[in-house]
Amino acid sequence: MAKLAKTKSILTDESMQFLKNYMNNPSPVGFESNGQKLWLEYLKPYIQTSYVDPYGTAVGIINPKAAFKVVIEAHADEISWFVNYITPEGLIYLKRNGGVDHQIAPGQRVFIHGKKGLVKAVFGWPAIHTRINSPESKEPQPRVDNLFLDCGARSKKQIEDLGIHIGAVATYQDGFDELSNDYFIGRAFDNRVGGFMIAEVARLLKENKKTLPYGLYIVNAVQEEIGLRGAEMIARRIKPDAAIITDVTHDTYTPMVNKIIEGDVACGKGPSLAFGPAVHNKLLALVEDVAAKKKIPVQMRTVSRSTGTDTESFAYANDGCPSVLISIPLRYMHTTVEMLHKSDIEQTILLMYETLLTLTPKTNLRYI
Ligand SMILES: [Zn+2]
Repeated sequence: MAKLAKTKSILTDESMQFLKNYMNNPSPVGFESNGQKLWLEYLKPYIQTSYVDPYGTAVGIINPKAAFKVVIEAHADEISWFVNYITPEGLIYLKRNGGVDHQIAPGQRVFIHGKKGLVKAVFGWPAIHTRINSPESKEPQPRVDNLFLDCGARSKKQIEDLGIHIGAVATYQDGFDELSNDYFIGRAFDNRVGGFMIAEVARLLKENKKTLPYGLYIVNAVQEEIGLRGAEMIARRIKPDAAIITDVTHDTYTPMVNKIIEGDVACGKGPSLAFGPAVHNKLLALVEDVAAKKKIPVQMRTVSRSTGTDTESFAYANDGCPSVLISIPLRYMHTTVEMLHKSDIEQTILLMYETLLTLTPKTNLRYI
């Protein structure tokens, strides 16, 4: 049977392969080095120079000598668990490393990143039969202090022999997959999709032979999930004149999400732009204008005190840096089945790309 003709995607086979590899590579908060290596390797042909800061934030630069500096940014780290306590019977209790969701943990498979390499383990959970017979006859709810890993060891010594130590991190095993109608699922699309998209922006600039009248800093920051820390450090180092941040935001069309609180955003309807105090009015207006001119659909939303993204780290760095947030809608954030739509990836890349082509050092970003 003939395949239906599709409009050509801006994503090449090579970029899709990179997305899959990048998604399937663990990059726990504080231990992002393997992911950063993969990312820099992919980015290298499209930049002139690069560096990595002391805590692992990776930066690719186009026009490194330019005085005016623009950042496009995503975060590289992935929520995970820390080994905290090993029982004499060989079970492992944990602490969070970022906002991992205790409710989805029972029955999941993980890799523990030990000193001798990856060790497979599972989140054990009492059987439906045994827990119904518990004295309170109340269903136990998963909590950090009752969740445990079982790797097959039956003593503390056996655990240690496997190279597992206090402070080792554990990540879920689930990787990238595709569903019907161009939906992708995977672990930590938050925010590896961002790292992928900013790299694709650099690729498009190079392949379309575009020159920019400023220095472009393509930043993949570490440690976002524990308080926007990597961005905080790198914003001080770069001292940019403007910053475009990309991260994920909630699709509010799934059950048990309240649009009255969370707003109206859906996968497949384009990137989302946020209003909020850290989002610079003039820069946001410019992005909205670019979207309208280039017929890129956008979905507006608002935040209260903060966007909860690296936008704050850039906006409030140094003497204040005009910053804007371009988010991609995502379902089931911080689960192992984070889901997003291919067309939103394409449109978000295009919106960043077209914004960069519109921005110049002379763009009026004056507040009044
Ligand atoms: Zn997150």
